[in-house]
Amino acid sequence: MSKEHFIAMSGSYGCIPDNIAAFEKRIDAVYYLIDLFELPRYGSKAGDLRKTGYVELGHDFGADYAEIEECNCSHHEIHGEGSKEEVVRDDNLG
Ligand SMILES: [Zn+2]
Repeated sequence: MSKEHFIAMSGSYGCIPDNIAAFEKRIDAVYYLIDLFELPRYGSKAGDLRKTGYVELGHDFGADYAEIEECNCSHHEIHGEGSKEEVVRDDNLG
């Protein structure tokens, strides 16, 4: 049986996403993108991402958008590295 998973992706409009990672839980995909783009956790962009699974970024972030998609394929490995790895929490805040 295929297992539901969530794909976090980001990139430029009209292009293949620059960055893709698959997660078992939607919230992990959300936090992955929040950490990747260093979005304020309780800011409006993080809020958009949580609520809608989509956020517009911009040049400051190096990507036009970030998005989370639900997927049911049986080989989530195809979505790229990172799916098996633990999401790095920001526990070294310099
Ligand atoms: Zn998939």
